[in-house]
Amino acid sequence: MTTLAYRTGSAAFWLGVAALAFAQEAPRGDPADTEIWEPEPVAVTPGTGGAPPSDAIVLFDGSDLDQWRHRDGGDVQWSLADGAVTVVRGMGDIFTRESFGDIQLHVEWRTPAVIEGEGQGRGNSGIIIQQRYEVQVLDSWENRTYSNGQAASIYKQHIPQVNASRPPGEWQSYDIFFTAPRFAEDGTLTAPAHMTVVHNGVLVHNDVELAGPTRFIGEPSYEAHPLEQPLQIQDHANPVSFRNIWIREL
Ligand code: MG
Repeated sequence: MTTLAYRTGSAAFWLGVAALAFAQEAPRGDPADTEIWEPEPVAVTPGTGGAPPSDAIVLFDGSDLDQWRHRDGGDVQWSLADGAVTVVRGMGDIFTRESFGDIQLHVEWRTPAVIEGEGQGRGNSGIIIQQRYEVQVLDSWENRTYSNGQAASIYKQHIPQVNASRPPGEWQSYDIFFTAPRFAEDGTLTAPAHMTVVHNGVLVHNDVELAGPTRFIGEPSYEAHPLEQPLQIQDHANPVSFRNIWIREL
């Protein structure tokens, strides 16, 4: 039988092993040829437990709302207590005084511990990047609504891969990585916006493409806007709280 010749220990077997080893020998050359030394990444001191890294712009650390305004430019009339800011119904959305393009954003939020309302009326707010692209804030703990409008949805465009919600009254976090859309000088879109969202440490959107600003009614479509725009947080009439908001410009 021919298989007998390849039995372990036979001369033919060991010849085969040697041939294989020769074929898999590491390629010749200098490993330094493929080393890249420039640029050297800048050293950043990372934060612990959601704290901002050393190169972050801290937008809200619990002490004041100096970096925020209402639509008319006036000082923020939401309530500030215990290191958190809470929506005061009817006072309107808040906006950063500064504008941003491509960003990494960290924000922590909490819907009311006492459940009131249902569906979209329960703990609704929103993180509206560039005043156009909303990541929904909602109490989605055992609170069914349309999937592309639940917590961590990119409102009416992308359903989160999973529902990583914590119960009402508990702090939750979003880490959002946003690439702003690009427009040509004549206003035509050259690159759509992209977003990655991590909800309470769980990836829920992986570099998804946006079809335009998030809309309540109708299909989204882009209109040219400057590369850098303010960040906005929504007053949707529910007393949602926020804390530890920081951003890194990419
Ligand atoms: Mg909302």
